[in-house]
Amino acid sequence: MTPVDRARLATLAARPSFHKGRYRNPDRTPRHGLRSFLRWQRETGGRFPPGQPFPLAMPDSALLTSPATRPRLTWIGHASFLFQYRDISLLTDPVFARRASPVQWAGPKRFTPPALTAETVPPINQVLISHNHYDHLDRDTVLALHRRFGRDITWFVPEGVGAWFRRRGIDNLVERGWWQSAPHQAGEAFFVPAQHFSGRGAHDSNRTLWGGWVMDIHDVRLYFAGDTGYGSCFAEIGEVFGEIDLALIPIGAYAPRWFMGPVHVDPDDAVQIHQDVCARTSVAMHWGTFVLTDEPMDEPPRRLAQARAAAGLPDEAFRVLGHGDTLTL
Ligand code: ZN
Ligand code: ZN
Repeated sequence: MTPVDRARLATLAARPSFHKGRYRNPDRTPRHGLRSFLRWQRETGGRFPPGQPFPLAMPDSALLTSPATRPRLTWIGHASFLFQYRDISLLTDPVFARRASPVQWAGPKRFTPPALTAETVPPINQVLISHNHYDHLDRDTVLALHRRFGRDITWFVPEGVGAWFRRRGIDNLVERGWWQSAPHQAGEAFFVPAQHFSGRGAHDSNRTLWGGWVMDIHDVRLYFAGDTGYGSCFAEIGEVFGEIDLALIPIGAYAPRWFMGPVHVDPDDAVQIHQDVCARTSVAMHWGTFVLTDEPMDEPPRRLAQARAAAGLPDEAFRVLGHGDTLTL
């Protein structure tokens, strides 16, 4: 693993991200208010493309409970992955809900069921949370995992999100701001910026932080990018860490670009992130599960294949897993 540039990390950590009670992106980004939202809804006639379920492979439970002598990644759907390596068994943004919404009778519906649930995942000891949007932080999922595993789980959460967990009786937390780190049982965790926003209600926009996690786990460096538009932070991640073994990068929820561009990458941007952070292998996420935006549900992987070819990357460099598929590195 390439050594972390500690001096650069300290310089970046000193950069302010909080202003008058709200967090701000590292780069200037347009503020899309209600007007823009209404323009988007008017232009699309308030209609989303039709939802479609994708084939779901049922993960092999014998495989998932066997020792992970090599890094092993299973896509549960959307931004939820199971990553296993030696003594670490980690989930990213676990959402097993039927809707990405504060209530289960309205809001974006799930078209492909989760490949694993709080009952069927193998024992978990780390959970990474990128931000508090409903398609990334789901109350029922968090509570079900907490009921089953209790203090066996360390929750890695962005600055400001810890209060949400403590209110629910969960205090085994690592809560960090951008470029801050924490040791863990198998290495070190770093919270890094993404270009996005946060909020679960009408009055809490950008009151809590968003971002990604770089996890050094034994001799492997994992990067979970979270939810993001394209910005200068990815080249900085590349400068600080030098190399990433496995990067989990979003490719969906990008259309229309005038509205989604600042907060959600498209496949071309995703390939640029793969290159900026110096990833050996990337895996696509944030597509094929919920209908959140205007592109057809099956378009992101097709556009990724084009972007990969245009960049001269082999197919194995930036992979698309099916729901429930397991990749062993
Ligand atoms: Zn989000
Ligand atoms: Zn999202």
